[in-house]
Amino acid sequence: MRLKSIELSGFKSFAKKTQLEFASAVTSIVGPNGSGKSNIAESFRFVLGEQSMKSMRGRRGEDMIWNGSAAVPRAGRASVKLVFDNPPVGGRRALAVDFDEVAIERVVNRDGSNEYLLNGSTVRLRDIAELLAQANIGASGHHIISQGEADRVLSSSARERREMIEDGLGLTAFLYKKVEAKRKLQKTAENMREVEALRRELAPHLRFLSGQVKKIEESQKLRDDLAEKYLEYLKRESVYLRVQEGLVGEDLATPKKEHDALTQRIAHLRQELSQKKDDAGTNELVALEAEVRAVASRRDSIVRDLGRIEGELLAHERITVVTRSSVPTEQVRTFAQTIEQGLEEALALEGSQVKEKLTTLVVAVKDFFGQLVQATAQAAHSPEELQAKKQGLEGELANLSQEETRITAATQALRKKIENEKDANREGERELFAAMARRSELQTTLAALQAATDTLAREHEQFRAELAEAGALLGRAALAYEDVELKNAQGEPVSDADVVDEPRAMQEDRRRKVERMKIKLEEIGAGNAAEVLREHQETVERDQFLRRELEDLEASAASLHQLIDELTETLEVRFTDGIEKINTQFDAFFKLMFGGGTAELAVVKEVRPVARVLDEDDDAEAPEVASEQTERTEEGIEIAISLPHKRIKGLHMLSGGERALTSIALIFAMSQVNPPPFLILDETDAALDEANSRRYGDMISSLASRSQLILITHNRETMSRAGILYGITMGSDGVSKLLSVKFEEAVAVAK
Ligand code: ATP
Repeated sequence: MRLKSIELSGFKSFAKKTQLEFASAVTSIVGPNGSGKSNIAESFRFVLGEQSMKSMRGRRGEDMIWNGSAAVPRAGRASVKLVFDNPPVGGRRALAVDFDEVAIERVVNRDGSNEYLLNGSTVRLRDIAELLAQANIGASGHHIISQGEADRVLSSSARERREMIEDGLGLTAFLYKKVEAKRKLQKTAENMREVEALRRELAPHLRFLSGQVKKIEESQKLRDDLAEKYLEYLKRESVYLRVQEGLVGEDLATPKKEHDALTQRIAHLRQELSQKKDDAGTNELVALEAEVRAVASRRDSIVRDLGRIEGELLAHERITVVTRSSVPTEQVRTFAQTIEQGLEEALALEGSQVKEKLTTLVVAVKDFFGQLVQATAQAAHSPEELQAKKQGLEGELANLSQEETRITAATQALRKKIENEKDANREGERELFAAMARRSELQTTLAALQAATDTLAREHEQFRAELAEAGALLGRAALAYEDVELKNAQGEPVSDADVVDEPRAMQEDRRRKVERMKIKLEEIGAGNAAEVLREHQETVERDQFLRRELEDLEASAASLHQLIDELTETLEVRFTDGIEKINTQFDAFFKLMFGGGTAELAVVKEVRPVARVLDEDDDAEAPEVASEQTERTEEGIEIAISLPHKRIKGLHMLSGGERALTSIALIFAMSQVNPPPFLILDETDAALDEANSRRYGDMISSLASRSQLILITHNRETMSRAGILYGITMGSDGVSKLLSVKFEEAVAVAK
């Protein structure tokens, strides 16, 4: 890698675009005071990303911009472009971008805004700083020694010195990496805390959901149990009902048929019997009996009359005075008609009415005979009359006897007929009673069977309701009860008969058990299971995701820790090693400059409170480390010298020249150990006398073999070492102008 050129446009006094090419190892810039030489050194700082305006003699970014003069108006922006050759060496380029030429450009605008460009593309300052650090062009500017700043390394603090030396040793790239690693570690720690917080936030919800899921699982198990028990219950119930209903149906059929037949038969018998009751047989008999009585009474009456007539005839034989009496025939006919009519009426009547009628008739008969006796007593009958009468009566008597025989025969025949009929009726009644008894028996049986049927119907209804409920609870699975293969406690198959024979209480027990399970299931109430399960799954996944992320973060934190440790180790080793090498060179250059004496860098430890460290140092440790430590030890660099023939201890006792020589020795020593690509020395040689100027010149020649040197100088000796000489002039327009000059011209220009 080689510095090729620098181009200033509108930067400070360089109002016009000005390009300096560095074709030689040593370039000297000469010119009168105030012509703008130092502005060139500052343009290097500027383009390399210097943030301190003070170090470029300004207060603001705007101060870097050509401010105008009477002749040339001010510029709107200042830009500086630095161009490097960046050829690949052994497959590697010094600047890690794939370009043979790398142009780094910085622009500052009047509003103070900055732009950084890498080969024309806008980049961040950090990108440029990192790129340069790899090529040992550090930000501390150890390779740009401004005017009067040569002894800065002497006057700065041990820590600043250390930084300069680290930069000089090319450790900046490692420091960047370390700072970057620490920054990442801090970010990682932050992320870890965030992720942990998220997990902590998630934890109660996850616990809650896990509880819910456990409940759901419990209820699922209960539901499975319930399904099993329910199906067994339903299966048993269906078998029981099927068998029982079949049996009752069969049982009912025969008695029902018999009962119906009996009912019909009973109706028939009843009808038959009621018809016979109305038969005229009995009435006929009653009439006949009345006839018998009438005949008997007539015969008695005739017999009495005959007796009286015979008495009268006897009396006639003995008594001469015969009284005659008779009852008019008309009266007797009337009487007979009355009696006949009465009896006919009686025949039409029944029971008590017959008796009443007969009683009236008896009274009528008595009356008639009463009258007869009176008439007889009143009239005296002649024996002829009496004889005739007697004959008449006797004839009548004979007729009556015939009549009586006929009636008796008729009565007997009727009685017999009635008797026969009665027997026939009794048979019918017996059958009726038997049928009724059987029917009532059957009714009892049927009632019992009906009760059983009703019970079964109720049970069937309950079964249907239970099935519906099972369906609501278990869905289609409820219907699978039909396929359940029943097993007893021993695991043997259970037959339909076993089901029916089992005490009903056991099935009722099953039902109650199922009921209890249903209630329990409802109590658990794992409603909305699908949603809870989904949410739980999502939460678990989220938690696992966070856990994995945490693991990843932990892993990356661990690897960052390791990287930091490695970098620390590398830095430590290189630093220690570098210090040793610098010391060798420092001592040698010192001896050369002072003709003797010794010079040495010493690493010292400074104990610094962490708070200050954090304030001043943006590469702070991760907070958890800081909280454990309230202070930390830092290594700084002290410079120990001893001048020949002088008892000088401490840098503050040195003269200006001695300070310059010491700093030059150190700067050169550092440049020797880790040569920077270029080194700018702005009048570092100003304080040197002739002898030291020569030595300085020798050292420059020696350094030039490793680094490009840009020397701003008024020193003749120094000029003489340059391959290229640039003269800077400034006219009345206040604009710096560049011109290539020969050595002799340069000497002249410098003055
Ligand atoms: P010396 O040899 O005395 O150290 P020098 O050659 O190093 O001088 P510089 O210090 O580089 O000179 O130049 C300073 C000059 O630049 C001054 O004349 C100053 O006016 C001019 N200058 C600085 N900033 C600006 C600016 N923003 N605009 C215009 N001119 C500026």
